[in-house]
Amino acid sequence: MSQFKRTAIALVLIALTTGAYSVLSFALMDNRWDEGPISMELQLGDAPGGLIDGAANWNACANNALSNWNAVLGPTGRSFNAVMGSTRTPAEPDEVNSVFFSGDIFGTPFGDSTLAVASTWIIAQDGIDRRVESDIIFNNAKSFNCYRGPLRGLGATPESTGVDLQRVAEHEFGHTLGLLHPDENGQTQNALMNAFISDLDTIQTDDIQGALTLYGVAVTGIPFPPRNEALDYFLSLENEYLDTLGRQQTNQGFVDAEGTAVWLPEWLRYVLNGCTSAQATDRVLLQIRGQGIQPVCGVVAEGTINFPPRNESLDFLQALDTFYRDELSRAVILSFVDLEGKAVWMQEYLRYRVNGCNNQQATDRVFQQIRGGGIAPICAT
Ligand SMILES: [Zn+2]
Repeated sequence: MSQFKRTAIALVLIALTTGAYSVLSFALMDNRWDEGPISMELQLGDAPGGLIDGAANWNACANNALSNWNAVLGPTGRSFNAVMGSTRTPAEPDEVNSVFFSGDIFGTPFGDSTLAVASTWIIAQDGIDRRVESDIIFNNAKSFNCYRGPLRGLGATPESTGVDLQRVAEHEFGHTLGLLHPDENGQTQNALMNAFISDLDTIQTDDIQGALTLYGVAVTGIPFPPRNEALDYFLSLENEYLDTLGRQQTNQGFVDAEGTAVWLPEWLRYVLNGCTSAQATDRVLLQIRGQGIQPVCGVVAEGTINFPPRNESLDFLQALDTFYRDELSRAVILSFVDLEGKAVWMQEYLRYRVNGCNNQQATDRVFQQIRGGGIAPICAT
């Protein structure tokens, strides 16, 4: 059963001095659009007095904001599709994204300092909820224009100059995608998504990385091995248990070699990017169910690679085994390596791989450990 929920987020009009910050972090909603185009019906109309940057009308000004987002959304599988000049009466929830001027927010008054509001509708579902509507309402009691550079129309400046609608639209379309205000979530970022309008006139690196992360595109460079190499390693681990340890092929499980080689690294990728063990397991199972690559839970500083305790990767493999048996109805498979061996030695192989070792170096180091030869150092300097 699905359920509609509404969230409204306001952009507040207060001037703010921004500094330069390099720490990577952003704030995300726990919902996102399905893959494909996001149509935005631009109904902002004419600007009879003309606009400073020469934009033909308000829709052209707002459309520049959509284009700026589209220039960076490629890897996400989402893009904005501008529908110009629609005459449909804005309503909610109608699963149409209307962009328009109004004196209120579907009947709710604007705050005194509010320039625009993004009103969002989502459908709750397992995992990341589905966004189905995002209306952007500009406060028609405010004076707007369209220009780049330092903000005009605030403080002592004559109101007739107006606030730049393009940057306000770009901020609001960031809410449409699912971004929140970093500065209202304990962060100090150089971000267009901050709650206060400023001299920043376009989306920043932090905004872009937030959008990429929400749609499952990795923005940090933890170098996981290609799937075929993890699979080759896993098959050689089976041989190692047979040839060197003399084990029997008696361990029952439901996950095939490929499943282990694909999903344990994927689980670890979530854990290394801020997810708890349970969050990572939920995300992998959603992926197997066909719901796409899920967002990571946070962003870790570059060079930070904290592997979880081995019992957690064993817990994951047990959950994966149950899932393969009960939901995928897989047949039993016999393996030379028991589940604990898979958890310990796959994780150890991946630890070497993300720390600078190539496939052969990582395999050699793990097998040295299996043969009682001690723990060789990682390869990164
Ligand atoms: Zn906002």
